[in-house]
Amino acid sequence: MAPSSPDPVRTSSTVADRIAAVRRRVAEAARTAVREPDDVVLTAVTKTQPDEALLEALAAGQRVFGENRVQEAQAHWTGRRGDHPDLELRLIGPLQTNKAADAVALFEVIETLDRPKLAEALAAAADKAGRAVRVLIQVNTGAEPQKAGILPEQADALIRHARDRGLIVEGLMCIPPADEAAGPHFALLRKIARRNGLKVLSMGMSGDFETAIRFGATHVRVGSALFGERKRPETSSRD
Ligand SMILES: *Cc1c(COP(=O)(O)O)cnc(C)c1O
Repeated sequence: MAPSSPDPVRTSSTVADRIAAVRRRVAEAARTAVREPDDVVLTAVTKTQPDEALLEALAAGQRVFGENRVQEAQAHWTGRRGDHPDLELRLIGPLQTNKAADAVALFEVIETLDRPKLAEALAAAADKAGRAVRVLIQVNTGAEPQKAGILPEQADALIRHARDRGLIVEGLMCIPPADEAAGPHFALLRKIARRNGLKVLSMGMSGDFETAIRFGATHVRVGSALFGERKRPETSSRD
């Protein structure tokens, strides 16, 4: 068998080590792209992880976290705000309209706004909570039927719609098709962002965050490279 590259999860043993290693790779990718390392935010994806993993990440200074289910995120984080007032929680999974208020109560940023009806629900929740809500528009760059996200050709209209409803649209998010090169999808997301005057690009995961940084990612969402493989299989169902 040919020697394979070392598995970062095995060779460095603690979450703190892996966070440091991923931060080094983020910084290196930024420098290669002639960008500032500080311009790329590492979002640590803690879905399915046990409390110990969260605690280790917090102890290592990590403060920006991504979760893909509202209920699990509540269980993970609701009791931790007191000790960590500087937490930034980002919803990166599909959101049902009937959970919009819960999501607005918990998350600083909702990255998965992908339809007008959800924009209405988030705007209503924002009114009720008496505060502005920050969102990203999720774009289904591969036009995959099973995947969440607005189609690329409908993105401009949804951005306008969300802005008209008073939501703070900070940028765009995408999850490229698993079986295609990610670069063209990242490039498409950047193009849609530019023509709409949007600064934030949430793109890139454990397998492709360096590529995403090359294409302008401002936020990379990294789970397994920090915490190891997840036990719960991925599902596409809405929380
Ligand atoms: C799980 C998840 C990630 C993290 O994936 P890894 O490959 O484990 O880094 C990133 N983004 C979204 C939307 C996810 O659901």
